[in-house]
Amino acid sequence: MKRMTKIAVLVLAMCVMAAGLIFAENAEGDGETAEEPASQTLLTDDSTYLWIGLQYGSSAVDRITVKSSSGFLIVKGNNKGWTETDITTDSTTLTIVPSGGQATVVDENGTTILGGMGNGGYILMSAAEDPEDRLITINGSRYRDGATATVTGGKLNVINVIELEHYVRGVVANEMGYTYPLEALKAQAIAARSYGFMSINKHKNYGFDLCTTQDCQVYRGYVSEHDSTDQACAETEGLVLTYDGKIVETYYYAYSGGATLNSEDVWMNALGYCRGKVDEYYSDYRWAVHYTMDELTQEMVNRGKNIGDVQSVQITKRHSTGAVAEVTFVGTKGSAAITKSTILSALGLKSFMFAINDEQFVWNKDGMATVTDASVSVIGASEQDDGVKSVSVIGADGGVSTVSASDLRISNGTMVSMPQGTVSPGWTDSPVSSDVVYIAGSGWGHGVGMPQTSARNMADLGFNCEQILKYYYEGTEIGNIADFQ
Ligand SMILES: [Zn+2]
Repeated sequence: MKRMTKIAVLVLAMCVMAAGLIFAENAEGDGETAEEPASQTLLTDDSTYLWIGLQYGSSAVDRITVKSSSGFLIVKGNNKGWTETDITTDSTTLTIVPSGGQATVVDENGTTILGGMGNGGYILMSAAEDPEDRLITINGSRYRDGATATVTGGKLNVINVIELEHYVRGVVANEMGYTYPLEALKAQAIAARSYGFMSINKHKNYGFDLCTTQDCQVYRGYVSEHDSTDQACAETEGLVLTYDGKIVETYYYAYSGGATLNSEDVWMNALGYCRGKVDEYYSDYRWAVHYTMDELTQEMVNRGKNIGDVQSVQITKRHSTGAVAEVTFVGTKGSAAITKSTILSALGLKSFMFAINDEQFVWNKDGMATVTDASVSVIGASEQDDGVKSVSVIGADGGVSTVSASDLRISNGTMVSMPQGTVSPGWTDSPVSSDVVYIAGSGWGHGVGMPQTSARNMADLGFNCEQILKYYYEGTEIGNIADFQ
């Protein structure tokens, strides 16, 4: 595969041994004469490298085993690449341990070969000749390129140092199914590349840039690479999304529920390219939750809102798109309004597209059959050849009806639930009792930027990755990262 970066190869005399370093013996017998000075190839790579925290903080470890079947280059580097030091080891397994507040490398014999790992310090880089073959194993999982560590509180933060394009290949399939259409995967690759580049130093307290979770982007290394996502990465190599001449932070999420939001309606910053709009291409994703008034009262106490016992909670403001802008809790001593992302965190909601105590929205929006009488008995069931099951039910009024099993809801007078075996994503048991609040909605995610399932739908309709990105990030352009490095 073509690489966007250049590898400068320098041949320098090997004359300096850094303090604390021990040379691995160079292989001999390749025909060099004894008169020639000892020499070795020093490599420099000025690609953009990201430092990915694999384990840190509460998951920091006591030792890291790093394996490379082609041995290691010992390099020094930062986000702007690395330069090989004057040592190359022939070891295929090295161990990093904390020692004297430093991450220190020991070889298979337990001999310390270097200290001072971390940003600006040493990195163990796979020594495979072709950069595309640089694979290593870090504590049992496979990654591309290199490994290093920093020390916090006597424990090791485990870091994969990886070239930006390689990183994107380890992200796309985790953030969007690898079976998604190519143009959607390409939009995701451009978004992941842009976000990755803009997140340099995001977690600098631990000595790395990005974590591997949804807090940044989900990254699992080599295991996440697939032909389809690799193709998407290759076809967009070096491409990033720009706005106003700068690379943008490309926020994305799974389902819009029908509308996106202005960034400042969720967080604090108004980003010109993240404007709320009705999403013409959304897929429905339903969810429901419910709370007792006691639970809502406790939530207000936890948030320091002294409004007494909560008696009701209601939507008091919506954006023009329908997304909820404000929810107000009314208590015996006062009321409290919550806005922005607090709406999701306080009520445990998946999206801003929801209704409270709205039976029409909850049960009937898509023509679902509902049975809300106090007592219901299933009196018959049938299974057709195509596997679709229907059931006949008798309601409290004595009437018999037949409904699709997947549409059936059963009430005991207090709770409504789906029968076992007809799972619909996101639905949970929901009460209809008046002293319990139930909330149902559509969508999954913060609502800012590109909904990935909508990107899939656009690709299925024939839109290309640029059209998809420009629809959800208004006013943006596709640029090349080479202009920003
Ligand atoms: Zn993070």
